[in-house]
Amino acid sequence: MDSLDAFATAKLEALAGASLRRDLVHTDRHAGVVIERGGRRLLSFSCNDYLNLTHHPAVIAAAHAALDRHGAGSGASRLVTGNHPLYTELEQRLAALKGAEACCVFGSGYLANTGIIPALVGPEDLIVIDALAHACLFAGSQMSRARLCVFRHNEVDHAEELLAQHRARYRHALLVTDGVFSMDGDLAPLPALGRLARAHDAWLMADDAHGVGVIGGGRGSTHAHPEPADVPLQMGTLSKAIGGYGGYLCASRPVIELMKSRARTLVYSTGLPPAVVAGAIAAVDLIASDPALCAGPLAKARLFTRRVGLPDPESPIVPVVVGDTEAALAASRMLADEGFLVVAIRPPTVPPGTARLRLTFTPAHPDQEIERLADLVRDRVPRNPS
Ligand SMILES: *Cc1c(COP(=O)(O)O)cnc(C)c1O
Repeated sequence: MDSLDAFATAKLEALAGASLRRDLVHTDRHAGVVIERGGRRLLSFSCNDYLNLTHHPAVIAAAHAALDRHGAGSGASRLVTGNHPLYTELEQRLAALKGAEACCVFGSGYLANTGIIPALVGPEDLIVIDALAHACLFAGSQMSRARLCVFRHNEVDHAEELLAQHRARYRHALLVTDGVFSMDGDLAPLPALGRLARAHDAWLMADDAHGVGVIGGGRGSTHAHPEPADVPLQMGTLSKAIGGYGGYLCASRPVIELMKSRARTLVYSTGLPPAVVAGAIAAVDLIASDPALCAGPLAKARLFTRRVGLPDPESPIVPVVVGDTEAALAASRMLADEGFLVVAIRPPTVPPGTARLRLTFTPAHPDQEIERLADLVRDRVPRNPS
């Protein structure tokens, strides 16, 4: 064996030994919440398609029409010839939904975060970031080469301490957090973080991947608090509740114009296919016009947590922390035997010792199935709530 294959094989064996090897499983998703794996039909509690919009007839029809009219791909970067007219329409709708002046759509949420952050800060600047922020926020932060300070999850006092200690030595400062935490489902204290950022002349950036469409009346985490939150950089994705693919930043006009010149993941990556953008326009229209639809996922999550005896959820993401990685995998297998797809989340996606089941809810989950699942989780899944 050559050294390359020897390296890959040894690495895989080490991962398998720690129950950390990951494999891709063929999955057929149907309308609603049913998926097919290995010839079995399962009810999925693991998709981020919170509003079941991936299969909504209006979204599919809009994508079909754009496919026929504009073709399968965009042909180039948006800066070259890939900026088909559907982009403007989508960006105007997202800015309106978020209450921002302007918006810029990227190829994905990951590409958005790795483009936005290095376009705003560099080696002379400071980033203060929540410890549980999404991996791509850390990736973007590292790519910027700014000084990185990590604050304990949702501890505004710790963030303040770090800013007080370090802010003065740097030119600009960026305060970074998820709006809804992807593996815990809790909300960031955005009003307090907004005040903190203003007080230290820092720029607050919130990643709303799991907020838009499902909290704050569909407008996302910035609108989900009793008091308004001052968040000048509202990033999000089109890949979850919006049901398609892509990412975006809603911000002031000058910030958005800067992205078009300086965000490398926008400049040097091909524009999204027109059908994807058209589908997102239809999905945003559904979200903006139907608050009752947007309230559905949280109501279903609450039905589950109350039956299990967990605290009320703040978002449609509910973690059941098991602790041990092998035990989390075993719990996931047990639920699959009962007809439920509930994927186990392991380190390094979550901190060591906090392997968990992560459940997500949609309006299409039948109440009686949620209750049956809750009873199984309550009675048969070992829980380590630390
Ligand atoms: C999923 C996710 C992303 C990445 O978005 P994609 O569009 O899937 O690339 C970014 N941030 C958070 C918090 C996410 O959960």
